[in-house]
Amino acid sequence: MTLPRLPDEPLRQPPGNLPADFPPERFDLVAFCEGCGHSAVLRRAALPPGLTVQEIPPWLRCSACGRRPGLLRIVYTGAGGFAHSGVAVIAGMG
Ligand SMILES: [Zn+2]
Repeated sequence: MTLPRLPDEPLRQPPGNLPADFPPERFDLVAFCEGCGHSAVLRRAALPPGLTVQEIPPWLRCSACGRRPGLLRIVYTGAGGFAHSGVAVIAGMG
C-alpha cells in the first residue's frame, strides 16, 4: 500500500505576512527610521495592495529626513489606544 499522493498545489502563501493578517483594530504598522529615529504609523489605505509586511519598507520614505525606514514593526495596540503591550520585529529587512 502506498501513501496517497498530495496534489501539486501552487504556493499560495506569499513569503511573508500581509497587513490584513494583523487586524487594524488591534495592530498598527509602525515604520522606524534608522537615520533619524523618526517613527510613524502607516496608513494602510495608502499601501499597494498585495504587498507583504516584509516588502513594504522599500516603498516608504521617512517624512522627517527623506531616508528609507529600515524597520517595520507590528505594534499590538490592544482594544484601544497605543498600549505597546507587545512588539513583533520583522526580521530580514535590509
Ligand atoms: Zn528619518
